[in-house]
Amino acid sequence: VSQTLHIPFDNTYSQLPEAFYQKTSPFQAPKPTLIQFNKPLADELGISHKGATPEKLAEVFSGKTVPKGADPLAMAYAGHQFGHFVPQLGDGRALLLGEVLNKDGTRFDIQLKGSGQTAFSRRGDGRSPLGPAIREYIVSEAMHKLGVPTTRALALIATGEDVVRESVTPGAVFTRVAESHIRIGTFEYFSGNQDYESLKTLLNYTIERHYPDILKQERRVLSFLEHVVEAQALLIADWLGMGFIHGVMNTDNTSIIYQTIDYGPCAFMDSFERNKVYSSIDQFGRYAYSSQPRIAHWNLQVLAYALMPLIDESQHELALLKVEEFSERFEKAYLKKMFNKLGMQEFKKADSQLIGLWLNYLQEEKIDYTLSFRWLAEEANLQDSSPLPKTPAFSKFFGLWTAALSKQKTELTQAADFMNTINPVIIPRNHLIEKAIQLALKGEYSFFHELIEAVGEPYQTPKTNSELFRPPKPHEEVHETFCGT
Ligand code: AMP
Ligand code: MG
Repeated sequence: VSQTLHIPFDNTYSQLPEAFYQKTSPFQAPKPTLIQFNKPLADELGISHKGATPEKLAEVFSGKTVPKGADPLAMAYAGHQFGHFVPQLGDGRALLLGEVLNKDGTRFDIQLKGSGQTAFSRRGDGRSPLGPAIREYIVSEAMHKLGVPTTRALALIATGEDVVRESVTPGAVFTRVAESHIRIGTFEYFSGNQDYESLKTLLNYTIERHYPDILKQERRVLSFLEHVVEAQALLIADWLGMGFIHGVMNTDNTSIIYQTIDYGPCAFMDSFERNKVYSSIDQFGRYAYSSQPRIAHWNLQVLAYALMPLIDESQHELALLKVEEFSERFEKAYLKKMFNKLGMQEFKKADSQLIGLWLNYLQEEKIDYTLSFRWLAEEANLQDSSPLPKTPAFSKFFGLWTAALSKQKTELTQAADFMNTINPVIIPRNHLIEKAIQLALKGEYSFFHELIEAVGEPYQTPKTNSELFRPPKPHEEVHETFCGT
């Protein structure tokens, strides 16, 4: 069998001026071993891999062999980390191999993460430990299946090299696919350097690639800003709906399109808690669950200021008003999401108290956020078998909820059916990810594979292994996540 692996690269970012990146090669992993390859995704991207051995895939996706047509580069960017401006960050442990077009003509970046040092590594080793790579693989694929726009996972390779963190741990290269890796921080980089020529080039490139509809508009910068504001409003509503906490919403981890990017110490909540924080580095809870809309708004202000050099002074105020629209856009998206989760496809803002009553009840009784909506659907089906505690708060909510549904002439069973199509049974729970990581560190990958399978069908209750969807028992709960930089 001939070893064919063909990636039909069609690169554009590497054609931009030199200020945008450092062109450099990946490091040579001593003993690359394939852990996972996402064949369906490879097919979607037009990558031919028939006959490619695991060894060949491991060589290419660890960066040991640079495939034909790739033009590896580390992207330059800046960013506000925990509120503080850092003028130069950039890909310190990642390389953009190049871009491919899928059948619909959508362009995707193929990026190696953990592929060695670059000009942006500062004091870092350019490596990625296996644990965080496993987390990103599972969570990003789960998010995709849950319908939340996200970067995807194409491959996971063990490098055969140890990396030193709190302890010595195996290294990995994670291949991710994104509609692009342009961040708010990319704009901040050129703006901060007062390189307004490049800033303009970046804006034009971004608009052509992601928002071609506004190419012909007069106030392109304002339109662009408006689109990013809307994208963030939709994305954060998706996150809150799924009980997702990103964990490091720095501006360098904020995409300028409707897409989740840079999974670090992220987590899905088990029991509902408004101010839940998992990240070990988020000491002050800046990026807590319910703070995410406020932080997105703050990040968008940063983008607006970065774009000001390209905006006529007479329109600066207008630009800031575009950012202020975030609150309204977010609220609209959030209410729609939450009402839908409650089985209500139509809603009046006046009914919003229902959402508050429900969430208060969940928090008060420490109820599992994900399963609560499935249990509520069971109640609606009059099965009355659900584990939801029948407290006075529950009765109050249930009475108002059923009344609101009946006002809309929605049958309870109809509402329940709809709820079961949009409320997942399976999310990648923290303790399961942790278990997959701990086993992988011992060289056992079968649970990782099982978890990947399970999160691929989030709306089906698994018949065999209840471990994959039930909430953690108290002793299994994992309250802290690490970023592994
Ligand atoms: P992150 O926390 O992954 O969003 O990374 C923030 C910044 O630190 C980015 O510029 C990364 O490229 C850089 N960085 C993180 N880990 C490393 C590492 N091990 N070596 C070099 N740079 C790193
Ligand atoms: Mg990052």
